[in-house]
Amino acid sequence: MSQLYRQLLDEIAEISVVDAHEHLMVEHERIGDKMDVCDLFCHYNRADLQTAGMTEAELAKLFHTNAHHARRAPDTPPLAARWAILKKYLPAVRHTGYARAVFITLQDLYGVDELTDANVEQVSQAITRTYAEPGLYQRILVERCNIERVVNQAFSNKEGRAFIKDRLETNAGLMVGLLPGSVVLCAAEGNEAFLRTHGHALPPTLDAFHDWLAARCRAWKARRDLVGFKIFPPSRHGQPERGRPDAAATYAHLAQGKKLEASEKQMIALALLHLLADVCAEEQLVCAIHLGIVAGNYGDFRNRDPLACMSFLLEHKDTRFDLYHAAMPWTRALGVIGKQFPNVWLNLCWCAIVSPRMTVDALDEYMDLVPVNKIQAFGGDYGRPVENVYGHLVMAREIVAEVLARRIERGELSESEAPDIARLWLNRNSRVLYGLA
Ligand SMILES: [Zn+2]
Ligand SMILES: [Zn+2]
Repeated sequence: MSQLYRQLLDEIAEISVVDAHEHLMVEHERIGDKMDVCDLFCHYNRADLQTAGMTEAELAKLFHTNAHHARRAPDTPPLAARWAILKKYLPAVRHTGYARAVFITLQDLYGVDELTDANVEQVSQAITRTYAEPGLYQRILVERCNIERVVNQAFSNKEGRAFIKDRLETNAGLMVGLLPGSVVLCAAEGNEAFLRTHGHALPPTLDAFHDWLAARCRAWKARRDLVGFKIFPPSRHGQPERGRPDAAATYAHLAQGKKLEASEKQMIALALLHLLADVCAEEQLVCAIHLGIVAGNYGDFRNRDPLACMSFLLEHKDTRFDLYHAAMPWTRALGVIGKQFPNVWLNLCWCAIVSPRMTVDALDEYMDLVPVNKIQAFGGDYGRPVENVYGHLVMAREIVAEVLARRIERGELSESEAPDIARLWLNRNSRVLYGLA
C-alpha cells in the first residue's frame, strides 16, 4: 500500500464516527455475561463455520444455547471443549471477512495475533473482564472505536416491545433507536399478535391504524429517540396496488377478529408497509430497507433484490429510504438506484466484513454514480460480541482510505478534499439523514 494510503488512513482514524447500524443489546443486560474467545465468533462467523463443515452437534456445543443476541447460558460447556471444536475449523474460515474483523479485534484490543492452546484461556479471561463492569459501550464504542452516535435496531420483537414499553434505557446520548417493521406488520397476524406487542387490540380501521401509528411515532420519537424503522423489501411477486380497495374492508374484518387466508394476510401486510412508509414521511422518520445477502445460512435472498423495491421507492417519493448492505451481490444495481432516486441514501453497513473487496469496488463505483452526501460507509451490524465493532470499523476505514487514495493517485481528487469526503461518509451523512443533532 502506498504512503499516501497510509497517511490518509491515519487521518481517517481521527474522524469520529456515526455508526449507521447495530443490533446491540441493552448494556445492563450484557454486564457479567461470561464471554470468552469462542463467543467472539458467535455472530456472523457461525455461518462460515457451518459452511466450512462444522456439524450441527458441534455448533450446538460451541455456541451452546447462546444466540448472538442472548447472554451465555449457565450450563455452557467449558472453554477447553469448545475451543477444541473451534480450532478444528478455524484454518478454513480464517481468511473470510467475518474472521478478519475478529482477528483485528483480538490483535488491537487483546494483544494476540493468533489463537493457540497456550493463549485461549488467558485471552478469554481478558474478554470476560471486558464485560464485567458497567461502562462497556462507553469503553469499547466511544473510547476504542471513536464512535459518537449509534443507530441501533432492536433485534427482535421482544426488544422492540421493550423499547415500546419504555423499559429499555441505555446509553442515552450514544444510541438512537430503529424499530423493526415487524412491530407494525405483526398487525397482519390479527389481534392477538398485536396485543402481545402493543398491549391493546388493533385499531378498528386502516385509517385509525394510520392515526394510531403516527401518534405512537411522535411519542417514541420524543421519549425514546426513535429515528426510523427497518423493513424487508416488499416481495417482487404478486405486489398488489397500494390503494387496493379491498385492503380496507379486509383489515376491518381482521380487527373484528375474523381469521384471514394467507393471501389476505399478505395483502394487509403490504397495505401496512405502505402505511408505514407514509407515516415515516409525515413524522420525519427514516425507512431503512434490508437488501441483498441474508444473515445466517440457507437464507433465500432472491426477494431481497433491489429491483424488487423499486415500485415502492417510486410510490413514496417523500419518504427518506436508507438502503442497506450495498444489496450484495447486486451492488451495481443499487448504485444506479442511488443515483436516480433522490429519496434514497446508501448504507454500507455489514458490507466491509461480508467482502472487503466487493465493498471497495462498490464504493468506488458509488463515487462515480452517487453524490458524496448520500453515502454512509459504516455500520457494524453486530449483536452480542460488541468488541467486533472495532475490527469491523478498522476494515471500513481501510476501504474508505483505499477508494480515496486511488482517486488521488489517478489525479481525480485533491489530497485536501479526501478527508472531507471521508467525514461525510463516516459521520455527517448519517447525522443529516437521521436528524442527529
Ligand atoms: Zn440487514
Ligand atoms: Zn442489521
